[in-house]
Formats: sequence, C-alpha cells, structure tokens
Amino acid sequence: MIYNWNIIGHNKQLEMLEDDIGSGNLSHAYLLSGPGHIGKYTVAKKLASILQCNNNFCGKCPTCIQIRKGQHLDTMEFPNDREALKIGQIRNIIARCNMSTQSNYNIVILQSIPRMTTEAANALLKTLEEPPEGTVFIMTTGSVSELLPTIVSRSRLLKFHLFSTDYLVKKLEELFPDVDDKTIQQVARLSLGRAGRAIDLVNHPDKLAHFLKLYKDTLYLLDTNNVVERFSYVEELIENERMRKDFLGVLTHVLRSKILEGKDLASRGKLIEMVSKTQDAGILLKQNVNARLVLENLMLT
Ligand SMILES: [Zn+2]
Repeated sequence: MIYNWNIIGHNKQLEMLEDDIGSGNLSHAYLLSGPGHIGKYTVAKKLASILQCNNNFCGKCPTCIQIRKGQHLDTMEFPNDREALKIGQIRNIIARCNMSTQSNYNIVILQSIPRMTTEAANALLKTLEEPPEGTVFIMTTGSVSELLPTIVSRSRLLKFHLFSTDYLVKKLEELFPDVDDKTIQQVARLSLGRAGRAIDLVNHPDKLAHFLKLYKDTLYLLDTNNVVERFSYVEELIENERMRKDFLGVLTHVLRSKILEGKDLASRGKLIEMVSKTQDAGILLKQNVNARLVLENLMLT
C-alpha cells in the first residue's frame, strides 16, 4: 500500500481508494457501508487527511493534526451524535462547499447518514447530482437498504465486512504483544468481528468484564428452559439500557456461531428463526416499543 493507513484489515477497500487517488479518478462522493465499530469512520478521516495533506499524508503537518482533531476548516465533520441530520445543516454544508477553498478540497464527512431527515436526504441528493467543484463527500452507513437508492447510486460504494475471530487474534497479537493469550482470545471472541471494539476492549478492562458477563449470561439463558429465570433476566436488562443493547448483539453472535457449528437440520432451522426474532427485537427496541414486552416475547422463543 502507498499510504500508512495504520488500520486493521480492509486492504481491498483501501487499495481501491488508493487507486482512485493515484489515477486521478476520485469520486465526488464515497459511501462506506458495513457494521459498526469496524473502522469506517477511521478510514473516512484518514482518506480526508490523505487528500488534504500536501506532504504525502505525513500525519505531522498542521493540516493532518487539525483533521485528526476535527478542527480543519475545509474538512467538515459530522460524527454521529444520535441526533437527526436536518435540512438546515445540509444547506449550510452545501453553501460552504460552493465557496472557494484554500485547501486541496472541500471535504464533508457524514457519519451514519440514515439519520438524515427525508428533506435533508433530498437536499443532499441534489448536491450529489451536481456536486460543486473540488468537493468530496465521505459518508458512512450501517447498511445501504436504509438509504434512498438514488443516494447510493450517486456515490462510489465501498463495502466493509466483519473480521473472523482467527484474523482478529492474529492482529491483536501483533498490536498488543504485552497482553496475555487468554485476554486476546476473549477479546477476539467478544468483539464479534469488530476490530474497533476489540481495541476498545483491550484498552478498557471494565468493558471487557461487561461483555464477558453478557456472553456467560447468554449461554446460560440458551441452555436453561426455566422461563422464570429468563424473565428475571429481562428485569435486569430493563434496568440497564447499555446491557440491553449489547445483549441482543451478543445473542445474535452466539446463535450465528451455533448455526455455523452445523448441528442437525431441525435445530438449524430453529436457530435461524431465533436470529431473525432477535433482529426484530432490536428493531422494535429502536422504535421505542415497550422493552419488557419485546424482551419477554423473545425469551419465550
Ligand atoms: Zn500532513
């Protein structure tokens, strides 16, 4: 690779970006799609730095430092703050992009664009159809299905994938030579294929303990047929929003691993059904449907 991205994996995607830069075939809009915590936003920021830095992505010049801190004037950054992206913000962005710039480009980084309102999405779409000269949009999304198809088709799509546990173990061993084997194995398993989360878990033992507990709880719940115990676990989840959210992720992962282990066909069918019920539960919880009802229903399956 030409640039020192310093990112775990995603070589194919990074090479595609380097090809675009090297061949002068840069798109005015990139859409980085894939699960959370695997490095899409980090790639977006580094791509911005590569484009703006006049010193071969040195990481040391004022431009590189400002972009890293999110303070570069011509690199507008909108990390996911869990608020909707509204039309006013998109209009401001477009106005800024129409002004001339001292930098190489006007760059707009938008994280999690499904949070755009319909009006905002339509305004953005107009800009993507007729992009101002020298503007590059770098956007991220969990999946493309939540977006206007026209926004997807106006962007150059890069798909990012989860890592295998074995791959994560290998990379974590390289990155953290001082951390013991057992911790590396646990972290790789618990990060559910997400490198960003894996690094976070190594650096934060309290979070690692949190996920270890969830993993143990999940295995136990799947094993027991005791509905009373399952329902009392629901009470625990209702008290704690973070645990609730992470629990569904861990449950999905455990079920998927069981599917891959390839038990008999009947139990496989049941497991697949449970994965889809778990995903439905996640969607319902996001829509603020009564959490107790959703989780108790899930426990009954
Ligand atoms: Zn630089």
